[in-house]
Amino acid sequence: MNIDIIKDECKRQGISRIIKYDEPLNNHTSLRIGGSADIFCSPNNIEDLKKVVFISKEHNMPFRVMGNGTNLLILDGGIRGLVINLNKDFKKIEFSDKIIKVGAGVSLALLSKMALDRELSGLEFACAIPGALGGAIINNASFKGECMADVVQNVTFLTRENRIEKISKSNLNFNYRECNLKSESVIILEATLMLKKGNKEEIESKIKQNIEIRKTSQPLDKFSAGSIFKNPPGYYAGELIEKVGAKGLTRGKAEVSTRHANFIVNNGGASARDILYLIEEIEKRVTKNFGIKLEREIEIWGEP
Ligand SMILES: Cc1cc2nc3c(=O)[nH]c(=O)nc-3n(C[C@H](O)[C@H](O)[C@H](O)COP(=O)(O)OP(=O)(O)OC[C@H]3O[C@@H](n4cnc5c(N)ncnc54)[C@H](O)[C@@H]3O)c2cc1C
Repeated sequence: MNIDIIKDECKRQGISRIIKYDEPLNNHTSLRIGGSADIFCSPNNIEDLKKVVFISKEHNMPFRVMGNGTNLLILDGGIRGLVINLNKDFKKIEFSDKIIKVGAGVSLALLSKMALDRELSGLEFACAIPGALGGAIINNASFKGECMADVVQNVTFLTRENRIEKISKSNLNFNYRECNLKSESVIILEATLMLKKGNKEEIESKIKQNIEIRKTSQPLDKFSAGSIFKNPPGYYAGELIEKVGAKGLTRGKAEVSTRHANFIVNNGGASARDILYLIEEIEKRVTKNFGIKLEREIEIWGEP
C-alpha cells in the first residue's frame, strides 16, 4: 500500500478534509491505548463513505470500522490500512411515535436519554453502555438480560462492494455478543428501533438503578474496555478470574480490576502489551484450574 498514491486519490475525490494520516488511536478508545492508524477517516455522509470504500477497494487497502472504541484493544504497533469512524449524518436520530431511525454513530447513552424524554421504554438497559449504535448491534450489546435484539427492527448497511442494503429483524440472527452482520464485514449505516410507550418515572427509575449497579460493581473511574471475556455457559468469567487469584494482578500500569475481575484497567500509561500479558495469564490460569477456555469479548486489532 502506497500512502502517497492514496493521498493523491483522496485529493482527486475531494475527501482530503475527512482524512488523517498516522492518527494515534489511543484517543479513540476507552482503554486509551493503541498505536496509530496509517489512515483514519471520518466520513460525514454516505457519498464520502462510498468514495472511501471505493478507494480502499481500488488500492487493495484493508479497512476496519470503529465506533466509540469501547470494546477494542488496539496493539502498540497500530493498524496498517484504514480505520473508518462515522460522523455527522451518521449521528442523526428521528423519532416517529414508537419508531426511531438512528444513525450508526449515535451513542447509546444519548439514545437512551432521548427515549426517556419521549417516555419511550426499551432502552433503559443501554443508558450506561459507552458504545455507539453500530458497535452495539454488531455485539448485540446487553445489560441485565435486555439487549439490542429486543429493539432492532431493521438495519441498513453498506456492503464491501459499496451497495446499500437493508436487512429486517427476521433475517437478523442475534446471540450473546454476536450478530450475523459481523461475519459479513459490512458497515452499518443506520437502524430502525421499536420501543414501547412507558411511564417517565418508571423509565427514569430503571435507568438510575442500572447506573447505580454499574457504579458499585464496575471500575467506571478508570480506563477500560468493559468485560474482557464472555461468560462461559454456566459460569461468570469474573468469578473464575477471582478463583484463580488473578484479581488485582498487575503488569506495568495495567491491572486486573479489584472491583470487577473481568475488567482490566489502564492506570495511566499502560501498553497494549501489558494488557495482553494479563489477558493471556488469566486464560492460562483458568484453563489450568478449570479446564475452561475463556472466549475473549474484546476485539484485538493491529500489530504488536
Ligand atoms: C465501562 C464499560 C462498560 C461496558 N458495559 C457493557 C455492557 O454492559 N454490555 C455490553 O454489551 N457491552 C458493554 N461494554 C462494551 C462496549 O461498550 C459494547 O460492546 C459496545 O456495543 C461497543 O460499541 P462501540 O461503538 O464502542 O464499538 P467499537 O468498540 O468501536 O467496535 C466494536 C465492534 O463493532 C464494529 N463496529 C462498530 N461500528 C460499526 C459500524 N457502524 N458498522 C459495522 N461494524 C461496526 C467494530 O468493527 C468492532 O467489530 C462496556 C464497555 C465499557 C468500556
